[in-house]
Amino acid sequence: MSPNPLLDNAGLPLFDQIKPEHVTPAIDVLLKQAEDALEKVTGPDVPADYDALSLLLDVTTEKLGRAWGAVGHLNSVADTAELRAAFNENLPRVTEFYTRLGADERLYAKYKALAASEQGITLSAPRKRALDNALRGFVLGGAELQGAAKERFAAIQEQQAALSQSFSEHVMDATDAFSHYASTEELAGLPQDVLDATAAAAQAEGKEGHKLTLHMPCYLPVMQYATHRAVRETMYRAYSTRASEFGAAERDNSILMQQIVALRHEEAQLLGYGSFADVSLVPKMADTPKQVMDFLRDLAKRARPFAEKDMAELREFAKAECQLDDLQAWDVAFVSEKLKEARYAFSDQEVKQYFTEPTVLKGLFGLIETLFDVTLSPDTAPVWHESVRFFRIERRGELIGQFYLDPYARPGKRPGAWMDDVRGRWKRPDNQQTQTPVAHLVCNYAKGVGDKPALLTHDDVTTLFHEFGHGLHHMLTKVDDIGVAGISGVEWDAVELPSQFMENFCWEWDVVQKLTHHVDTGASLPRALFDKMTAAKNFQSGMMTLRQIEFSLFDMRLHAEAGNDQRVQAVLDEVRQEVAVNIPPSFNRFQHSFSHIFAGGYAAGYYSYKWAEVLSADAYAAFEEAADGQSGVLNTDVGRRYREAILEAGGSRSAMENFKAFRGREPQIDALLRHQGMS
Ligand code: ZN
Repeated sequence: MSPNPLLDNAGLPLFDQIKPEHVTPAIDVLLKQAEDALEKVTGPDVPADYDALSLLLDVTTEKLGRAWGAVGHLNSVADTAELRAAFNENLPRVTEFYTRLGADERLYAKYKALAASEQGITLSAPRKRALDNALRGFVLGGAELQGAAKERFAAIQEQQAALSQSFSEHVMDATDAFSHYASTEELAGLPQDVLDATAAAAQAEGKEGHKLTLHMPCYLPVMQYATHRAVRETMYRAYSTRASEFGAAERDNSILMQQIVALRHEEAQLLGYGSFADVSLVPKMADTPKQVMDFLRDLAKRARPFAEKDMAELREFAKAECQLDDLQAWDVAFVSEKLKEARYAFSDQEVKQYFTEPTVLKGLFGLIETLFDVTLSPDTAPVWHESVRFFRIERRGELIGQFYLDPYARPGKRPGAWMDDVRGRWKRPDNQQTQTPVAHLVCNYAKGVGDKPALLTHDDVTTLFHEFGHGLHHMLTKVDDIGVAGISGVEWDAVELPSQFMENFCWEWDVVQKLTHHVDTGASLPRALFDKMTAAKNFQSGMMTLRQIEFSLFDMRLHAEAGNDQRVQAVLDEVRQEVAVNIPPSFNRFQHSFSHIFAGGYAAGYYSYKWAEVLSADAYAAFEEAADGQSGVLNTDVGRRYREAILEAGGSRSAMENFKAFRGREPQIDALLRHQGMS
């Protein structure tokens, strides 16, 4: 039998050789090794010594993680029925192992002994941080609890998981349960592709006309383009009351929300905290719920005049151009779209002709090379598809990192864009060699037709820059401890700093010019078109900011104040009264489908979106402040400082320490407001 490629971790993954039949045998071996290592390190023969623990446990779990990462990656980008079956068969086993590892009391005791030892006190700062993170994870997982409290904690975890699962199932089922059959006349204004899809959906059921559903590809265009007001109202009412008391009782999330919030509060009390919001913030950059709420309220105050102006313009336009004297919730998207068209008419198709892939990549690579003092060049590695490219990053001949770029959409590839790690930077305890980091950069834009290059929308370009920001965070790290190298160990509300930071360059004229080369004429993007794009970017930014603040403040208050499990609607009403310029109708039950906080990982964490935006905008402002006529924002000195303080330090220090090391002060919200046209 030929060797199993998933067990070969000497170099890069053998993506061209991995087959579905390799998965289970490899995971059998690697899980066994990891389990043996866990038994060994928690036993009496292994001292509470950093290197000794790392040599046994980290080496085996990293091996498992890398192999499982390769399988998961292929499942995402080269899905087949056989591979999916192999993935799904092994997923519960791998998840179960990591859950057990994270709750193993013997391991917790060993880490505690290490922390308390002579060695523990004198560990290097990155190692100390890695150890602290591990200990904190155990404590928040209930490792310090005893007896009845411990049992109750475990029961709460189980109930929460079940309730969250039901919550999201109710949202999905309520979304699926609704349909509205409309005539072609009722759908006047809709784009042809949507009309075709809705007609096909009706026809598939043997019905006349068009089938409308609450799924985004249907709901959104109806709300934006349908001139028929009653159809919009019908759709809005259905959408905004999903999984509420206005629908089927078996899908009503009202009680579930109360139970989830109450259980979280009880969990927090068991752990010795005043509220679940306090618990949520322990591993985050923000310190206290009050700090988050002050931040949100300050931002609301500053965005408010712009939001009021947005709203006034919308009402005026509705009256003058759409004959709508009483703007209703179901008119907002429709009138906004019309106003946007009237103001900033340009087509994405037109813009696309300028962003030809080779020029975009050349410009992006050039920018990275200039700012971060590196060179990027093509490299070779086994790949999973012929269109995948591989590159290496060097500084003066020294290899720093490598990455795969899988750019195009194709069947069997999950939509969206993401960065994933193949392996992290690590001074390996088994051979004392420094393992260089490797990343996946995955996008999904359309491949060029014939011998023409791929054409990217400006959105595609921004996404590409965003993912490269994550990639650079992972690859340019100088930290040798794998648990805090690059993105590892970075606070959750700060992890989007480097990615959103990179997006700013896509709105910088000097940079954008170099990214464009018209597919037919070779011309770069005209300035007038760029100006229209920039103006459209900030369209209704005041209103959108207040909306995000409304969700964030609702989430934070719900989890910060005792007794709010009984006041879900009241808290939302109060928050809307406080910050919204456009209060939804009283039947609106947004919270009943707010899966981010009731079924996802965003509970008392929704603010992170805005929080990280402040960090990235303020970091970028350092480049704007240093800009001169010669090199514009591409200031190499600021680039070096950013690289050292943020990218190279990674998770080895707190995000606030990194930020202050770069900016010399704490973050300020001014740059974000200015970038979004609110100053
Ligand atoms: Zn991101």
